[in-house]
Amino acid sequence: QAKRNGKNVFRFYQADMDEEIIARRAIGAELQVAVERGEFVLYFQPLVNAASKKIQGFEALVRWKHPTRGFVSPAEFIPIAEEIGAISSLGGWVIDEACRLAVTWPTPVPVAVNISPIQFRHSDLPQIVSDALRRHELPAHRLELELTESALLESTPATQKMLHRLGEIGVRLSLDDFGTGYSSLSYLRRISFHKIKIDQSFVRNLPEDERDMSIVRAIVDIATTMGVATIAEGVETEDQSRALLAQGCHQLQGYLFSKPVPAEDVPLLLAPGSVEMNVNAVA
Ligand code: C2E
Ligand code: MG
Ligand code: MG
Ligand code: MG
Repeated sequence: QAKRNGKNVFRFYQADMDEEIIARRAIGAELQVAVERGEFVLYFQPLVNAASKKIQGFEALVRWKHPTRGFVSPAEFIPIAEEIGAISSLGGWVIDEACRLAVTWPTPVPVAVNISPIQFRHSDLPQIVSDALRRHELPAHRLELELTESALLESTPATQKMLHRLGEIGVRLSLDDFGTGYSSLSYLRRISFHKIKIDQSFVRNLPEDERDMSIVRAIVDIATTMGVATIAEGVETEDQSRALLAQGCHQLQGYLFSKPVPAEDVPLLLAPGSVEMNVNAVA
């Protein structure tokens, strides 16, 4: 009986895996054409000042409006886009679209864009960035590029040259998901980032978890000593917000303030007082 069950379980997983492989292939094939068909849209999530709660920027987060599947999460399709070599054209579109929209905002706050490690290694990022800035007349200091540690794993001369060219253009660099990689501190030593994004896994259990409190305090201290700003991701509660402010964190991002919103809602959020009102509504 047990053996038969075991076998059934195996067959079940096998069928599941096959289904997943087939689904991934289907998504991959559709991804190739989705950029040209204009099926992607950018959503924007506010980055707020930890003390005043005023909006100091937005992170652009890509969404796939699939004709039949509905909204597909980037967590699902970004890895597939990387696998099939579609990430550079998708990522190029994201940079261009973020610049195009940011110049229309009523307040000149920065826009942050996520850069895939593959895109970082396999496309001429400085050229793409400077073309987009010029095309939309967005000042370089209003564009922040969010890189993860995996983008920088090999500190090759090519990587260094790329970072140098981006620095010359004048865009800001943020280190995303900080603390989740293998050698977070070594990147801080080698590369001049403007901002560190403290991963939401360190934020989730604040303020009760004393270890996480210590880790956050240490990250903020190191960053501040180096003249690097800090932002905490995934802030969902007032208690987390208060704890992060007390640790000296500069900016906050999370559902407490706002979920990612469609582009047309950005001007509404930038209207005076709107995020403060939102916080009161949640509290
Ligand atoms: P990320 O860059 O770390 O972005 C933060 C993610 O956390 C976003 O998920 C955001 O919606 C979510 N988030 C924000 N506040 C909260 C909160 O309070 N609680 C919780 N539980 N989650 C929160 P999203 O939009 O699904 O994006 C997931 C990841 O996909 C991003 O992580 C980023 O790595 C990647 N991604 C998104 N857009 C792009 C893009 O245009 N290009 C590339 N290469 N990657 C992207
Ligand atoms: Mg990000
Ligand atoms: Mg992040
Ligand atoms: Mg994250």
